Amino acid sequence: MSELSMNDIKFLPGVGPKRAELLNKELGIYSYEDLLYYFPYKYIDRTHTYTIREITGTMPYIQLRGKIVSYDTQGEGHKRRLSALFADGTGTIELVWFKGIKYIQDRYKPGREYTLFGRPTMFGSRINIAHPEIDPVDTDTDADGGLQPYYTTTEKMKSHFLNSKAIQKIMTALWKAVPRSIPETLPAAVIQRARVMFLGEALRNVHFPQSTDLLRRAQMRLKFEELFYLQLNILRYSRQRMRRLGGFPFKTIGEVFNRFYNECLPFALTGAQKRVLKEIRADVGSGRQMNRLLQGDVGSGKTLVALMSMLMAIDNGYQACMMAPTEILAAQHYETLRPLVEPLGLRIELLTGSTRKRERDSIDAGLRSGEVKIIVGTHALIEDTVVFANLGFVVIDEQHRFGVEQRSRLWRKNDRPPHVLVMTATPIPRTLAMTLYGDLDVSVIDELPPGRKPVTTIHRYDNRRAELYASIRRQIEQGRQVYIVYPLIQESEKIDLKNLEDGYKTISEVFPEYTVCMVHGRMKPAEKEAEMQRFVSGEAHIMVATTVIEVGVNVPNASVMVIENAERFGLSQLHQLRGRVGRGADQSYCVLVTSHKLSEDTRKRIETMVRTNDGFEISEADLQLRGPGDMEGTQQSGIAFNLRIANIAKDGQILQFARDIAGEVLDDDPDLAKPENYVLTRQLSKIFHKKVDFSLIS
Ligand code: ADP
Ligand code: MG
Repeated sequence: MSELSMNDIKFLPGVGPKRAELLNKELGIYSYEDLLYYFPYKYIDRTHTYTIREITGTMPYIQLRGKIVSYDTQGEGHKRRLSALFADGTGTIELVWFKGIKYIQDRYKPGREYTLFGRPTMFGSRINIAHPEIDPVDTDTDADGGLQPYYTTTEKMKSHFLNSKAIQKIMTALWKAVPRSIPETLPAAVIQRARVMFLGEALRNVHFPQSTDLLRRAQMRLKFEELFYLQLNILRYSRQRMRRLGGFPFKTIGEVFNRFYNECLPFALTGAQKRVLKEIRADVGSGRQMNRLLQGDVGSGKTLVALMSMLMAIDNGYQACMMAPTEILAAQHYETLRPLVEPLGLRIELLTGSTRKRERDSIDAGLRSGEVKIIVGTHALIEDTVVFANLGFVVIDEQHRFGVEQRSRLWRKNDRPPHVLVMTATPIPRTLAMTLYGDLDVSVIDELPPGRKPVTTIHRYDNRRAELYASIRRQIEQGRQVYIVYPLIQESEKIDLKNLEDGYKTISEVFPEYTVCMVHGRMKPAEKEAEMQRFVSGEAHIMVATTVIEVGVNVPNASVMVIENAERFGLSQLHQLRGRVGRGADQSYCVLVTSHKLSEDTRKRIETMVRTNDGFEISEADLQLRGPGDMEGTQQSGIAFNLRIANIAKDGQILQFARDIAGEVLDDDPDLAKPENYVLTRQLSKIFHKKVDFSLIS
């Protein structure tokens, strides 16, 4: 490949300096190699052209060839649509556009011959094709039919006639210019083991597919390779770390754990809680350092698992800490844990930014002497002034609010890194977890404590408030409490705050007989705490709030969660908010209030919420809708998601396969020192030239 990466595209026939500059600036393509790895985003099957007479309402994407007979527009404003009659000699079909009306009419003229591509849909007895793709019939590239690749190009490129077709022509020239045999980038043994195509054949078929089958195999090879190197890189570091770092061995399950389990536990553990505790027990007993992600939906009982794990540490002479992303959440954890821990004769403390100096001094002393067994807190725990006698176990709640660097600082609080349990209520799909935290073991609590009723989720348009208020009133009359949440997003903070305050006024006016409290992130901690407390104590019936209540707050009597402007929230955020209700024995409701105008994606988000309570299904849907780069937490993770062809959301099986094979390679040759594996180290350093130390992730 080295030669190909040296060849400047401007010397390629049909490119030249002008186009080369466009390719440089718009797509970051400089060399022959860059271009060769610029893959089509889709293919159109030109092997068959249908006739209009053959069309039924249940076909996938099909190709037609014919002429536009006439245009017609209907409706006004945003309801305006354009339709066209398209004929091919066997019949006519209607084409429809809801956007880009002027552009379409200017560009595609009645009477000229076009190739059309789209999906026929049935409307009653009529069939139409919405937003079809239209190309002028071009005898040059269409002559041989087959699968035609489509390349992404930018507006600027298009305006210089560098469209997908032009790229296709350049690709043809490139293919003539590259050497007959393109050097392999995978070792022969891996190719054989994975049964994938050779690189040269794959590159050829991805740009010039000989058949659907060969295209599929070409894509498979290229996706496999991409994911293989991603996994090889992660596994190489994590295995090195495992060899390098031992963990504190917790030899016994001791008195404290047993006493808690037998005498203090107020209910029976769920099967899932027991299973996860066994997994943790095995880890901390192994002599290796545990690094485990605990996934479980809100209310699934993670906190209890965390507590019992911390008791294992205490039984073995270590201290434990629990870190939460906000003061409110830390305080709530502390309030939950204290009554469970103090009867065991253990000292537990809370440390946050607002802990008073005198108290803080006492806590610091207790941590140094080892008298404080469990400390709950916020980022304050990370500070260098916090010194432990013997920290052995760390619980991190809602991990993706902590950066990698912050987490690694906790590791340095003892001469070996403590065991780490990361809890998250936003389940990360397995495929993503594997990529983000390749070295993290994953435990899942997939069972809710008995007696919980699933939350019923309802979608309401914001012009039907009277009904909404009536149902809120009915719930309060039955003794329940209600959350009303408003979005608060940084850029529009002032407007949002006004929305929230207006909302508070309106609600207070609509419900004069009830007490309404208000909580938002701009309040002073003490003020916020006081307002929150009014709701927790039951004095306030309605809490108007921003997403500050997203994590943690636990008020079992609250049975209704109204989310205003629900279109402005992401799926996982909506799910988190919904998790605030449904904690008691009563039927709970989540009402998503939106305007009428919803984008396709928003509609899908709302539908997903209404359909399911399953956090995993929701995070899968989130991943599909947003792509992994946008998932919460991936930004700080230090892994760039610039995959060229593989898709973390869709290629989970290939990812797993690639990971298994990468693991086998490392089993055989941990340092990749064998001559036949030279290509691996070369590719790794080429792909991951910006060295990320994966061992520090989580
Ligand atoms: P999470 O942290 O996963 O959101 P919590 O640990 O806060 O969930 O648990 C939610 C509620 O369920 C708490 O009130 C807790 O006491 C209770 N709980 C936890 N485990 C059980 C169980 N096995 N049986 C009954 N209730 C449980
Ligand atoms: Mg919790």
